[in-house]
Amino acid sequence: MLDDISRNLARIHARIESAARRAGRDPAEVTLVAVSKTHPAEAVAAALAAGQTVFGENRVQEAATKFPGLREGHPAMRLHIIGGLQTNKARDAVRLADVIESLDRPKLAQAIAEAMVKENRRPELMVQVNIGDEPQKSGVPRQEADAFLRACREEWDLPVIGLMCIPPAEGDPRPHFAALAAMARDHGLSRISMGMSGDFETAIEEGATLVRVGSAIFGARPQPVGG
Ligand SMILES: *Cc1c(COP(=O)(O)O)cnc(C)c1O
Repeated sequence: MLDDISRNLARIHARIESAARRAGRDPAEVTLVAVSKTHPAEAVAAALAAGQTVFGENRVQEAATKFPGLREGHPAMRLHIIGGLQTNKARDAVRLADVIESLDRPKLAQAIAEAMVKENRRPELMVQVNIGDEPQKSGVPRQEADAFLRACREEWDLPVIGLMCIPPAEGDPRPHFAALAAMARDHGLSRISMGMSGDFETAIEEGATLVRVGSAIFGARPQPVGG
């Protein structure tokens, strides 16, 4: 299984490269975020050994048990928090993460700003946009994104570097990817996080600079009990 991780990473890199070239882009513009949620520290170690340095976790608690030990000996490792974040986890996220991709509401922005002062640490931030305007989905609603981005800068002085989205599970993701890329351009934001195992090549064609790939690297995740 650990051999598979290195082979899977090589395959994903080849696919990133051809998708970028197809779109007339430099493959070096695209960073692979290896999403290791639910997989053990050994799987992350295998990916590190294969040269992967950027990882994504969606739960702060899980990242806190897995990553601090792995950082020793791997100073280049970067951890992205990509999952919905409760305000009471903001301080742990600020302490652990290099990038928080799931900033999506004023209360969280406030909590992160306060945590940054307390921890004396400023991870980079990305604003998650609910690009399909789906009820129940995290992410700032599209029509509120402008005001929220402005507030992040002016009210909380937060280091926002880009936008992130998870398009609706059903239907063609391409128009949603295009919409997020356009929104990032309009705001002068250079980093665009979109695309997962099933659709990262489409996301690259539409301008992704970060793709978040889990199962295609680490294998299927166990189904959560009780769904
Ligand atoms: C789990 C997860 C991914 C990776 O999903 P795969 O389909 O396994 O590649 C990407 N982004 C977020 C926010 C996730 O929670």
